[in-house]
Amino acid sequence: GKELSGRHVTVAGLGVSGLPAARVLHRLGARVTVVNGGDGEGPRRQAAELEQLGMTVRLGDDRTLPEGTELIVTTPGFKPTSPLFAAAAAAGVPVWGDVELAWRLRGPDSPPWLAVTGTNGKTTTVRMLACILRAAGLRTAAVGNIGVSLIDVVLEQEPYDGLDVLAVELSSYQLHWAPSLRAHSAAVLNLAPDHLDWHGSMEAYAADKGRVYEGNQVACVYNADETAEVRSEQLVREADVVEGARAIGFTLGTPAPSQLGVVEGVLVDRAFVPDRQQQAQELAEVGDVRPAAPHNVANALAAAALARAYGVPATAVRDGLRAFSPDAHRIAHVADVGGVAYVDDSKATNTHAAEASLAAYDPIVWIAGGLAKGATFDELVRASASRLRAAVLMGADRHLIREALARHAPDVPVADLERTDTGAMAEAVRTAHSLARPGDTVLLAPACASMDMFVNYNARGDAFAEAVGALASAQTTHT
Ligand code: ADP
Repeated sequence: GKELSGRHVTVAGLGVSGLPAARVLHRLGARVTVVNGGDGEGPRRQAAELEQLGMTVRLGDDRTLPEGTELIVTTPGFKPTSPLFAAAAAAGVPVWGDVELAWRLRGPDSPPWLAVTGTNGKTTTVRMLACILRAAGLRTAAVGNIGVSLIDVVLEQEPYDGLDVLAVELSSYQLHWAPSLRAHSAAVLNLAPDHLDWHGSMEAYAADKGRVYEGNQVACVYNADETAEVRSEQLVREADVVEGARAIGFTLGTPAPSQLGVVEGVLVDRAFVPDRQQQAQELAEVGDVRPAAPHNVANALAAAALARAYGVPATAVRDGLRAFSPDAHRIAHVADVGGVAYVDDSKATNTHAAEASLAAYDPIVWIAGGLAKGATFDELVRASASRLRAAVLMGADRHLIREALARHAPDVPVADLERTDTGAMAEAVRTAHSLARPGDTVLLAPACASMDMFVNYNARGDAFAEAVGALASAQTTHT
């Protein structure tokens, strides 16, 4: 961090990412200016706090480069096309994201990073990976996009000190601005259209994900089951890696050499075995993965691949997977009411995630809608139509889902609540209940972001669970 002392650093954006970055840079002796487009009450309060520490804050203009800026540290709120970056490029000023900052500030004895990115399954996979590493007796922490700021981890003596290895979740935003990151090994779980409004195109989005492979030392883990035009295997081939680093595939089918896969209900490794021609090493049973839905078995294989690349024994994979329990709002069974199961997959914030959970149930009363982020819904609806009993729609972009249903599932009844207020969730659950029959699953898998109606996906899932709770107690009182 010494090289930042006395430097004029501009932080792009306040908020949950900008504030900690500004504080850290200030602590390292940088002359910090924060620019923020919004100038409402929230930003003004945050600005006052930073100004008191001696930083400069400019509200209402996040387009022009402050005089004398030597480095920009940016936050996800800024798109790559922001005029601020054009000005920076013209002035030869580098731009770092929070991961770049953390990578540069890490000490000489810093533990290696096992990195995970992908459209869906990142948090789950990173948590599984941490469990496996712990089962092997290693000291580790699950950090990054998972909600534990890498900057904090790198700068705080604890819990960083004394860790053997980090399990790091990285988003495509973070990778976009992390040019010097070099992971021990990294996995891209899957690639489906998401955040295209930020990246500009699917190609740009995939290229940012692919940066996670750059400079990998041991293993580039890719999804061997992908069939779309943009595939993680392709990204591995295009990456510039350390000599000797290997491409390792994972598949839900029988693995080829240098792959992990599934044979008769057993997760097996044909990559990290003493003799590659030898028989596969058994890692765990499919039943050790919770929930054992196919997409989640793929997550487990990716986590296992990274752990094995780090040298973890096969038994630790099994023990670690058994020790893992899924986070809230990820295909969480909330309750059974009148023979109908209520499942919260509020974390399905894009169509690819929703498709995975819709594939796991039949018949389904589907609660969906929110912010589409530039997505289209035709493929999702086409793939899921045969399992839909009915659909209940709410949120800002619900018309996009309604239109896709009209095109590809014209016989599925649709209840469009025409609401974007928080209270709509209670009505959605009651409506879903009236449409469901015993044996059905009412599935909240919005395929959209939540911010039009809720603070975040957690709040959306909590609202669902609360509404289901109310429904359950109303049922009990009636019977
Ligand atoms: P992320 O951190 O990438 O958002 P999570 O592990 O939080 O991923 O899971 C988000 C949602 O994505 C889950 O609710 C689930 O519906 C779905 N999901 C998880 N893993 C996969 C996968 N491998 N493929 C497709 N969808 C998945």
